[in-house]
Amino acid sequence: MKKLLTLLILCLSLSTVSYAATPLKVIATFSILADFVKNVGGDHVQVISIVGPDSDSHVYEPTPSDVKNIAEADMVFINGLGFEGWIERLITSSGYKGDVITTTDSVTPRLVKNPAEPDILDPHAWHSIPNVKIYVQNILKGLQKVDPQNASYYSNNAKIYMDQLESLDLWVQNELKQVPPCHRKIITAHDAFAYLGKNYGITFLSPVGVSTEAEPRVQSVVKLIHQIKQHRIKTIFVENISNPRLSEQLSAETGAKIGGTLYSDALSSPDNPEASDYLSMMRHNVTLLKTAMMELI
Ligand SMILES: [Zn+2]
Repeated sequence: MKKLLTLLILCLSLSTVSYAATPLKVIATFSILADFVKNVGGDHVQVISIVGPDSDSHVYEPTPSDVKNIAEADMVFINGLGFEGWIERLITSSGYKGDVITTTDSVTPRLVKNPAEPDILDPHAWHSIPNVKIYVQNILKGLQKVDPQNASYYSNNAKIYMDQLESLDLWVQNELKQVPPCHRKIITAHDAFAYLGKNYGITFLSPVGVSTEAEPRVQSVVKLIHQIKQHRIKTIFVENISNPRLSEQLSAETGAKIGGTLYSDALSSPDNPEASDYLSMMRHNVTLLKTAMMELI
């Protein structure tokens, strides 16, 4: 009996130890990526997003608390493809020596032709659901490397999330196939949705390129106004991370109305369930886009 009691106490204390184990501290550079990491990492991971909800990663300025968080991190996850121009310096100044996982590894990047300057890569690969499955695989490999004891826990979480992504992809395909091909044109504030466009056959036009850093050129705005009129586009979108001024100006010039807010490079804040995780963000965007395109009919 005494032996049994000792065994019982031992079991209890062991389970308490594993229950109270400190989660890994990992960094994701922006809110959408943080959501992917949370889905794979579950309870075993505490994810800190450097750029928060509704914020613009293209022009982010790191803070001293980012340096501290990276210095203490067990792993750092980035998008890559030139999205986080500030990350390298931030990592160097933090002294962090751990792994930096580029979650777009193995994604086929979209190259943006740039007549005046060298071609650049389009970093917004997360708007393609098949690409997100690659992100999830890279995150899974990273977490299994830094925490091999919980490898099967992470692969189980990844599988559940991949199934949700698969259902989401089927839903998006089904929604958008109802839009006739000649109506598949959308105006957005910056060029963030081309991966979505390529997957589902939609043309996205915008006055600004793949980064929000540059001011729009006058010629680009004039050309866009012409395209809106020519294609009789009735709806223009604003984005949660961009100044709505330019979209409002285009709306005033062309008579096209503002069709709502698309979430391009960041989730909504947690108190706004509209796009507080990737799955709801995609459902929200696709619903808005479909409504706008159907209005052309
Ligand atoms: Zn962007």
